[in-house]
Amino acid sequence: MKIKKSIVFIACGVIAIGLITAGLVILLNQPNDIAVKDSEGNVFATFTYVDSEVALNIENESLKESAYIAFEEAVGKIADKYNLEEGEAVKKLFKSADCINTTLQTELVNNLKSSVEKNNITANTSLVLMNAEGEILAGYSNSEKNEAFCNYKTYLGSTIKPLSIYAPAIESGEFFWSSTFVDSPVSVTVSETGEKSDWPRNSDGKYTEENITLCNALAFSTNTIAVKLLQEYGVNKSINVLEEKFGLNVDFEKSKAELNGENEVLAAIGLGYLYGGASNIELAGSYQVFLNDGYYTKPHCVEAITNNENDVVEIKYKKKRLFSSGTAGVMQKMLRNVVIGGTGTDARIKDIQVCGKTGTTEENSDNWFVGFTPEYICSVYHATESTRGNLCPKLFSDAVKDIPHTETEFKTSNSITRQPYCEKTGLLIGEGCKDGNLGYFSKKSVPVMCTQCK
Ligand SMILES: [Zn+2]
Repeated sequence: MKIKKSIVFIACGVIAIGLITAGLVILLNQPNDIAVKDSEGNVFATFTYVDSEVALNIENESLKESAYIAFEEAVGKIADKYNLEEGEAVKKLFKSADCINTTLQTELVNNLKSSVEKNNITANTSLVLMNAEGEILAGYSNSEKNEAFCNYKTYLGSTIKPLSIYAPAIESGEFFWSSTFVDSPVSVTVSETGEKSDWPRNSDGKYTEENITLCNALAFSTNTIAVKLLQEYGVNKSINVLEEKFGLNVDFEKSKAELNGENEVLAAIGLGYLYGGASNIELAGSYQVFLNDGYYTKPHCVEAITNNENDVVEIKYKKKRLFSSGTAGVMQKMLRNVVIGGTGTDARIKDIQVCGKTGTTEENSDNWFVGFTPEYICSVYHATESTRGNLCPKLFSDAVKDIPHTETEFKTSNSITRQPYCEKTGLLIGEGCKDGNLGYFSKKSVPVMCTQCK
């Protein structure tokens, strides 16, 4: 009897341990809830995973976009680390992590939100605010979708020009602030009905047929000059810059240029019609180089993905130099002129200096302004069919003007020099030159002196 009792006892014990273990296994396989913390360590959103569906729980609806930005970035990091498809990465994230620590400053979302509301824009708008180190501080959108609208990829329009053409051309040392091209069509296209039209069109539909400096062409976003400069600099070189420096998707353009020749992708590379598109976050991140002396850190808000405060993946960001200090300094001055007297005057802010670039695509369906102050980068996207014009510079100004700044003026880079140039040739002014103007040049590459004027 004694032995039997023991066997029953042991058997019960084994079953109990088995049940506990099974329970534990089930528990361990249960997806965690994931808390998203702001830069101060406060939880402002929670994601849950139920029946293969991701759900966001949030008290303050305005913070929805910021939460999705953090979540999607964390999924991307898991996907990269374990080489997983997105769906699998989502599962893995919920099984392995319970918290995402971010650089987000939730109080700044109100500035972005009130700008959109003040301008009576009810849909399809996204704004992202970043610092000079590529840290995302806030995101806002009025999109109804359960995803980050700041990650939506679309055409960049003319906001691509500084990245794909102007900065690389100036970096080459072969082109300058004062280099000129004639504002005239590059080619004539013939439609199926036999109708001829000049290409590319400038936004006002006119050509001045006059010499225009690179500085003025950027300020007024003259498409003809952008395309001519791109052809002279080299389309394939520009494709490489977009891919290798800025990490943009140019797979389609690369193969098209290989198959049909460089001229086939002039509009994509020069005028911002990349087939794979680019997102608001990618655009804002790229403009860092013009604020941060030529340096770039991949845009990000996720600082750690943890479980019980232990890191689930190691997260490190590396700052890289993409352009020389001189190129960044000249570009900053050029982008300043866009806002002082070019296409971006609506972005001006009283008592704070602003640089930036506008962009619109055909029929004005994509509208952009990506700008920066001495402390912040803010990129604004608005998709619309309305005829109110590009409201993004105004949205930028309204979003940024009330953000406290300790620095309100840009410091001129030590790597650039201000010198008079000959308006006729774009070379440094010589004895015989009649009309001169002042321009900024990288100290490493200044044009030669003009000897052509008598
Ligand atoms: Zn001259």
